[in-house]
Amino acid sequence: MTDKILLKGAKIFDGVADEVRQQDVLVVGQRIAEVGAIEAGDTAIRTIDVSGMLVMPGLIDAHVHICGAELPIINATSSHWSYLSAFAFRLMERRLMAGFTTLRDMGGANAGIGRALREGLVTGPRLFYSGKLLSQTGGHGDARPRDYDMASVLGNCCSGSDKFAWVADGVSQVRRAVREELRLGASQIKIMASGGILSPADPLHSLQFSESEIRAAVEEATNHGTYVSAHCHPAGAIRRCAEYGVRVIEHATMMDEVAAEAMIANDCYAVPTLSLLGILKKEGRDMGLDAANMEKLDIVLAHAQDSLKLLRKSGIPMGFGTDLFGKAHDREGSEFTQRRKVDAPIDILRSATSINAEILQRGGELGRVAPGALADLIAVKGDPLSDIAVLEDPDNVAMVMMDGALRKDELRRAA
Ligand SMILES: [Zn+2]
Ligand SMILES: [Zn+2]
Repeated sequence: MTDKILLKGAKIFDGVADEVRQQDVLVVGQRIAEVGAIEAGDTAIRTIDVSGMLVMPGLIDAHVHICGAELPIINATSSHWSYLSAFAFRLMERRLMAGFTTLRDMGGANAGIGRALREGLVTGPRLFYSGKLLSQTGGHGDARPRDYDMASVLGNCCSGSDKFAWVADGVSQVRRAVREELRLGASQIKIMASGGILSPADPLHSLQFSESEIRAAVEEATNHGTYVSAHCHPAGAIRRCAEYGVRVIEHATMMDEVAAEAMIANDCYAVPTLSLLGILKKEGRDMGLDAANMEKLDIVLAHAQDSLKLLRKSGIPMGFGTDLFGKAHDREGSEFTQRRKVDAPIDILRSATSINAEILQRGGELGRVAPGALADLIAVKGDPLSDIAVLEDPDNVAMVMMDGALRKDELRRAA
């Protein structure tokens, strides 16, 4: 028999609307059947009293690395897969209990982890994995230390590739790497299109991949029915990615007006990721960052908030991502408070629900409290719309429902 659950007396943030409404939600099977004033006439309906709670769509984190167990990144990529998988499984369970019902992994998580979730071997959120990301030689995804004189480690198509990254040069290597990830079930393709903070060998302002390489990745992804996301800090990298067909710009920390115009003209999304920056500023040296990494971090930090303001002012749709690594993984809620420095709580919650769902190409089905949407719902103690910091504490998430099934239930049942 199909399960029917009635959430009674909720204040509802539906993922989109400005105002919160007092309504009930009827869940039938995996989906939301009805939202409104609903009486539990049917004895088959199980009623759960959520009065006083904010019920909202399950949170979506659009930029995670669930296998990012350690920094420097080469320590993680050189760890055994059995360890990285165990790390990822534990992390996914933790994120689900904190109210995140969907994660988009931007490099590392792969088909094996996807299968373990699908078969119910492990508990975790919905996972949209990219498999290995793509980097050029010496780019942000090439984790080899500068003095590491070994061109080909694994004997695969591309030099220096590791567990998290294809190091691919030239159009044919890029096409092959993209096709391989799509064969393995990647939901989207991730490329490294500029320098980054944590990588050992690239200047922050470097533009990575040629136009033809980026366009080749976009063509392969588009032909498959999906899209490319690109790691970009400097405005020049953002502009060229937008013009070459990349759909989602990750980080977007050093925007300028020209980059904003290119993003608008090409219907791009941005996924800002602030929390790791603040954590690295305080703890980066202890986490193994060297002086060059810290210097690059300072440049990004000097621009990140202004960049976010420009994205907001330009009306570019912004998702929500955390990009945490290593020990920082336990601060998953800090992105909310970092974003609050620039954004209103309602905008942050829209980013983490309906806008992230659009980024995942699942708008309407995820990130919404509406009839027909998948029943990924959370009940939150307190009012994140006036104080977003309540989402920093996973204990404030009293209920987590995914696909219509209760995954966390710390509410007193009404009936
Ligand atoms: Zn990145
Ligand atoms: Zn990342």
